[in-house]
Amino acid sequence: MSLADITWRMRGACHGLDPSIFFPDDDEQADVAKEICDECDVRVACLEYALTTRERDGVWGGATERERRRIIRQRRRSA
Ligand code: SF4
Repeated sequence: MSLADITWRMRGACHGLDPSIFFPDDDEQADVAKEICDECDVRVACLEYALTTRERDGVWGGATERERRRIIRQRRRSA
């Protein structure tokens, strides 16, 4: 996936929804966003994009910023 290719966003289950859902104040309030991501067809592309670009805020691909940092650490360890 090219970083320039963000057409997957248009197919996201969050498309057209209130963006604030995906930028909760803390992880405990991320459940609504995660449930939407669970049903999303482009979840993998979304998560990989956020990991690659080191997105700092929000829920992407069903993962909060803290969870994405954990994924990055795990990948580094197993590389
Ligand atoms: S995985 Fe979640 S944040 Fe990403 S496009 Fe789908 S619904 Fe939106």
